[in-house]
Amino acid sequence: MIALALVLLLALPWVLPPFYQTLFVFYAIAALVVLGLYLLTGLAGLTSFGQAAFMGVAGYTSALLALRVGVSPWVGLFAGLAVTFVFALLLGLLTVRLKGHYLPLATIAWQVALYIVMGSWVALTGGRTGLSDLPAVAVFGLELRDPRYFHYLAWGLLLLYALALYRLVHSRHGRMIRALRGDAVAAASFGARPPELKLWTFVIAALGAGIAGWLYVHFVRFVNPSPFSLEASIFYLIMAVVGGVGSFPGAFLGAGLLTGLEQWLKDLVPLVLGKSGNYEVIAYGLILVGILHLAPRGLWPWVEARLPRRTPPPPEGEGLAPRAEPLPEGPLLVVEDLTKSFGGLLAVNGLSFAVRRGEILGLIGPNGAGKSTTFNLLAGVLRPDRGRIVFREREITGRYPFETVRLGLVRTFQHPHLFPEMTVLENAMLGTYPRTHAPMLASMLGLDANEERRAAAEAYRALVRVGLAEKAFLKAGALSLGEQRKLEVARALAADPVLLLLDEPAAGLRAGEKRALAELIRRLREEGITVLLVDHDMELVMHLVDRVVVMHYGEKIAEGPPEAVQRDPAVLEAYLGGAA
Ligand code: ADP
Ligand code: MG
Repeated sequence: MIALALVLLLALPWVLPPFYQTLFVFYAIAALVVLGLYLLTGLAGLTSFGQAAFMGVAGYTSALLALRVGVSPWVGLFAGLAVTFVFALLLGLLTVRLKGHYLPLATIAWQVALYIVMGSWVALTGGRTGLSDLPAVAVFGLELRDPRYFHYLAWGLLLLYALALYRLVHSRHGRMIRALRGDAVAAASFGARPPELKLWTFVIAALGAGIAGWLYVHFVRFVNPSPFSLEASIFYLIMAVVGGVGSFPGAFLGAGLLTGLEQWLKDLVPLVLGKSGNYEVIAYGLILVGILHLAPRGLWPWVEARLPRRTPPPPEGEGLAPRAEPLPEGPLLVVEDLTKSFGGLLAVNGLSFAVRRGEILGLIGPNGAGKSTTFNLLAGVLRPDRGRIVFREREITGRYPFETVRLGLVRTFQHPHLFPEMTVLENAMLGTYPRTHAPMLASMLGLDANEERRAAAEAYRALVRVGLAEKAFLKAGALSLGEQRKLEVARALAADPVLLLLDEPAAGLRAGEKRALAELIRRLREEGITVLLVDHDMELVMHLVDRVVVMHYGEKIAEGPPEAVQRDPAVLEAYLGGAA
């Protein structure tokens, strides 16, 4: 299929009439921008109304360098992308930490401001009349003036960008970018640094638009502000939405369809109506509404749902290297005087306990006792008001989740924090993020293939251990609650835990599943993993754990072997009092 498409792409300019030759170049230019939006809006969930402005930045930079300094457009390409990079980085740094609508608003402001500068700084940009007589791009002395030659340049650059983006999306970074959108806490718990990932996503999308802007000005060999307006930016967003904003083929579909549609309607509508006017805009709007009515999530998801599904072979082979550093002789985790209040409510109050190496410690207590809050404090999701946490003889009080997970403090969530749109295997692979190292650029160049294979094998092994292997290629959204809990455990195992924090892993499981879970936890201890287990289910906890810590209203009321704790009057009071 791909080979056929490539041959077609090579032959296309020589079989198409001139009008379509030009159209195909504009198609490639639009697809570059829309692919960036696929990453930024579709996957990371960040909306930008400023992509056309990034096109303008690169386009004008190259045009000005060519006309005023006389350098080759190739130098202009790199200069244009460098300037785009700097602007995107600055804008990103200012906005990615902000929540909600700040990023879209900031991109509108940036888009409008840049458009005004392009239109009114006449001495530099030629104002609305623009700058003409730009040089053509030359390859080995051949000037690409003819659209049939330019076709290869535009599609070549598009395919390079698309390939890099595809690799990125299917790498450790891409999985985290997709995860970030759904649930930043879960993403951070497996090693992501959300602001950093968002920033690079924004920059990479802007660079795609930058390449498009450069192609545009050297194709029409003229530059003025109108192709870089807010309307143009919105038009690219519409392309992304029509194609299916979270899908890679959708970016090509949307860009191709709307680039063609606009032109065809301009020609067709006057023929049909027998008069000209702006009627094509109405037809255009109606067609868009029709498409989105038929396929609310865009065209590609609609097509995809009708294609036969293929299940890839299970990833076999060598997994990732296990942790090498030795563990301390003393206790693995020491908690001293841990305290956290929410407003006036003391959720955790002066809690102290230690977890010994190789044990299963149960942390129990009635609902609202502060168990989940304790987990969040240990993992670094919350900062304690007071107290100390020492893990593997390192103080980790107030550290971030992405730091604690690297040390081997790995947790599951009481309410599963999974990513329904990703496959079960991809969800489990998120756990391998802190154990893999390929930087973004290496992923984009495809240099991470070996590490990716091992990460997939490692995640698959974790799925086998919890009994989810045959569901590896289903979307996580299709799992039952019990299976989701197993996947939570599998993802944690893929992170190679030293201390595994399990928050009510048995809630919602059937009796048989609970026994299997207890069996799994025992096996994990035999393999050397220490477990801190929170659960409601007294039966499960009392048969499984070596020691218990009992919490009530944020305080520790008892600690010891299960049999002794079960008879403790304070514990009986807390549990029976709570039940009565
Ligand atoms: P457990 O897991 O033992 O059932 P939690 O740690 O979830 O208990 O909650 C302890 C107490 O803290 C409860 O009273 C709960 O309502 C409160 N609490 C937990 N998280 C928050 C929060 N983010 N904001 C305000 N109150 C909270
Ligand atoms: Mg809880």
